[in-house]
Amino acid sequence: MASQEIENLASALARLPGLGPRSARRAVLWLVKHRETALDQVLDALSTVKEKLVECDTCGNVDTQNPCTICADPRRDAKSICVVEDVADLWALDRARLFTGTFHVLGGRLSALDGVRPEDLAIDSLLGRVEAGRVDEVVLAMNATLEGQTTAHYIAERLEGHPVRITQLAHGLPVGGELDYLDEGTLAQALRARRPLG
Ligand SMILES: [Zn+2]
Repeated sequence: MASQEIENLASALARLPGLGPRSARRAVLWLVKHRETALDQVLDALSTVKEKLVECDTCGNVDTQNPCTICADPRRDAKSICVVEDVADLWALDRARLFTGTFHVLGGRLSALDGVRPEDLAIDSLLGRVEAGRVDEVVLAMNATLEGQTTAHYIAERLEGHPVRITQLAHGLPVGGELDYLDEGTLAQALRARRPLG
């Protein structure tokens, strides 16, 4: 039986997605074993993130600066906005390194079941960006779930009348597939083959 302190750490870690009580305990054991070399590094990284983490006012990305690294990068094409459900999707697409525009994080997807309404998502701010800037293209990169597609169509409707090209990630994405779980090649292919929303 481990001490209460170690138990507390294990149960805190067990709440992380992808972990669980067993993996959390294994992670704690590993940290205990490597306390001289790894523990400080983990602590430093955690406290830096805790101190510096901010949400980007423009796109909703989570970063250590606002505007975020992507929005602040002059090499990025601000005329092209890729709309995603969550920050994890933004990071996944950015890892694929094919999209050179900017992003917009909705903060979820429309869901009657979960009571998520349009006003709960960052849709107005997306329209604001489209209206304010010289945006040519909005890429709707919602997940291939029913709710993701409902959200994509809703946004397309809201963008009607604006002089922008509205495209969608190519199909071939697994149905119900969360972008975050796809490998970079698949994501890059879906982006490259993006097509007008129909
Ligand atoms: Zn940003």
